[in-house]
Amino acid sequence: MPRGQVFNIQRFSVHDGPGIRTAVFLKGCPLDCAWCHNPEGISPRPEILMTPSRCIGCGECVAVCPHDLPIPHRSPSAEDAEHCLVCGACAEACPTEARQVVGRPMSVGEVVEVVLKDRIFYDDSGGGVTFSGGEPLQQSGFLRAALEACQSRGIHTAVDTCGLAPEEDLLSVAEVTDLFLFDVKMLDDSRHRRYTGVSNRQILANLKALGRRGQRIWMRVPVIPGVNDDAENLEATAELAASIPSVERVCLLPYHPLGESKSKRLDRDVSLPDLHAPTPGEMQNLLEMVEAVGVAASIGG
Ligand code: SF4
Ligand code: SF4
Repeated sequence: MPRGQVFNIQRFSVHDGPGIRTAVFLKGCPLDCAWCHNPEGISPRPEILMTPSRCIGCGECVAVCPHDLPIPHRSPSAEDAEHCLVCGACAEACPTEARQVVGRPMSVGEVVEVVLKDRIFYDDSGGGVTFSGGEPLQQSGFLRAALEACQSRGIHTAVDTCGLAPEEDLLSVAEVTDLFLFDVKMLDDSRHRRYTGVSNRQILANLKALGRRGQRIWMRVPVIPGVNDDAENLEATAELAASIPSVERVCLLPYHPLGESKSKRLDRDVSLPDLHAPTPGEMQNLLEMVEAVGVAASIGG
């Protein structure tokens, strides 16, 4: 059985599909979105996450590190990360949890054990499990095995994807997925390359491949002010959704600045530092714009 590299399991989530859900976050993503809200999911490997405000400067981390790498009050630099074995000794020694390891290998059985704990809540609310990331299809063997194990126990399964994966991996995973939460960030390919680092051609082809299969899809659009919230992009996105009968709704997800502080804690560049969260009024206008095309839409979801 393959093991997965998991960086978070969030129970009682109401933002990752219908009902109350357990969201399992897998590491590794082929995109590098300028506004990423889960930057700890980008690297496929475990990493050290530093919260400088929690550091009391005790030096325990330095004392236990085989390479004398940790510098109190500072995130690991890219150079440190190159030498760091992510052995976790510093995080274990840290008395304030200023240093933490993000990412740990888990078996399918270990994940299912956590998911099953909240079965009663899924049954009452129409919820289930959602695999997210990062990009969960980066670990497609583990993902398929975990989805299969959940579905065979009667748990509703959802996959939250950026859409970039080999089509055969996607379609294999689709066989054991009840619902896809499929991100469509923007339709203009050159803009997509600029803000995510990759073309959207394969992503849109994969969306259509799921549509041909009649797969249930919630199309999700992260609303990033000044990047993709213009009428041209939103209307084209709504028209694309309307052209695929199995897209049940378009979910508009307002940008949240949480990812910025996490990026700094991982010593990653924040490429769009001046972003602000859209106001409720701005979100309402965008919602009405999408609904005017004739597709069901929601803020969040
Ligand atoms: S994870 Fe291990 S190698 Fe990396 S900084 Fe901490 S103690 Fe040193
Ligand atoms: S062990 Fe933790 S609190 Fe102590 S210096 Fe290192 S990071 Fe700071």
